[in-house]
Amino acid sequence: MGSQKYTPILVIVLALGLLGSIYLYADAKAELAANMIETHRLQTDFSQLSSNYDQLSAQIETLRDSNTELEARIAELESTPGEPTPPPVVVVERNEVTLNISGSGTIRNVIFLIGDGMGVGQLSAAEYENGQESLSISSMPYKALVTTYSENSFVTDSAASGTALATGYKTNNGRISLSASGEILTTVVEVAEDYGAATGIVSNTRVTHATPACFMAHVSSRGMESAIASQVLESGVDVILGGGSYYFEALDPIAAGYAVVTSTDELLDYDSGKVLGLFAPSYMSYDDYRDPEVEPSVAEMTSKSIELLSDDPEGFFLMVEGGRIDHASHDNNFDVTMREMFAFDEAVMVTLEYASTRNDTLVLVTADHETGGLMIVGGYDSTGISYKWISDDHTGSMVPVYAYGPRAEEVMAFTDNTDIGEFLVGLFS
Ligand SMILES: [Zn+2]
Repeated sequence: MGSQKYTPILVIVLALGLLGSIYLYADAKAELAANMIETHRLQTDFSQLSSNYDQLSAQIETLRDSNTELEARIAELESTPGEPTPPPVVVVERNEVTLNISGSGTIRNVIFLIGDGMGVGQLSAAEYENGQESLSISSMPYKALVTTYSENSFVTDSAASGTALATGYKTNNGRISLSASGEILTTVVEVAEDYGAATGIVSNTRVTHATPACFMAHVSSRGMESAIASQVLESGVDVILGGGSYYFEALDPIAAGYAVVTSTDELLDYDSGKVLGLFAPSYMSYDDYRDPEVEPSVAEMTSKSIELLSDDPEGFFLMVEGGRIDHASHDNNFDVTMREMFAFDEAVMVTLEYASTRNDTLVLVTADHETGGLMIVGGYDSTGISYKWISDDHTGSMVPVYAYGPRAEEVMAFTDNTDIGEFLVGLFS
């Protein structure tokens, strides 16, 4: 039959078709297998990336939280506590202190008070605003005017002048008890410690801030406050009171031998041993805005320091800074400047009350520089006097130094702030 003739061809065609199908089938299977492997690989990659993504998202969240905290921290540190309208200036009641002008006797204790930025203008205005009652400072019998220029500027900053007052040497602005060429300058605190005296440092700024730092640390720049904080803990100073807890957060004051107090009550209850009192993360509040239960006054810190230090048979050296007269003067805020002056003068009063009952305690009061160029003007006519600021920065004016107690009359020979530092270092050498 005709079809039989084609049978072999048909068989060949079918066989070829079958072979082709088998080939295509194998090919598709191989491709499928390859695709499955690829799919698996992509799924693995995807889950790896998802888990990386989750981890990174979590890290970003943590970083965002910490940024928010840091921003809040920076804002807190940068803000000046209590800027709202200040209350009217109030006349301060003072105890009468009878000073024994002759001041004989041997020096056992030295109390050195520094009004940061407190020039003759601030002192004069404070006398007038205090109902023309003399300040306690003004009752001190011996006084002189001293220049304050630094090694590299006629207008000093608090670091260079703090260095002059703590060591007796000039240095460049910004340096903390290091000479311009980098030598360590011995401080009155160090010689007092070697002598065996107890030592104390009080400030209502941060205890790591320029003025107190000059008595406890040696660094090339006042901004190195973390390094200053470490040196403060190694300084051996027995009583350290002020603001600036932020810089001690990464440190261990207890391991360094300090009890830590953080409120007025804790401070007032504390009765012996080395103590670090930190009452604010940064500066302590201006006196008018402080919560008295949390932040002690400069006078309270001074009187507690005297109580804690006076047990030492070798006597004591205490430095007290009214550090925020400077800040209010930078702001040209007259009322706050006056309240800071009164708060500082109250600390001087507490000191004179202690010194006037004995003949072995020298009290010195000075400023590191004047701030704001505060002037008292007018007054010739019925308009009365007014106050003028001529700067929002430090000025190069001389500042007064006042003294009471044994050897107080020696300040009358002083002409420069290094004379004060040299004298203080000499007392314990
Ligand atoms: Zn200043």
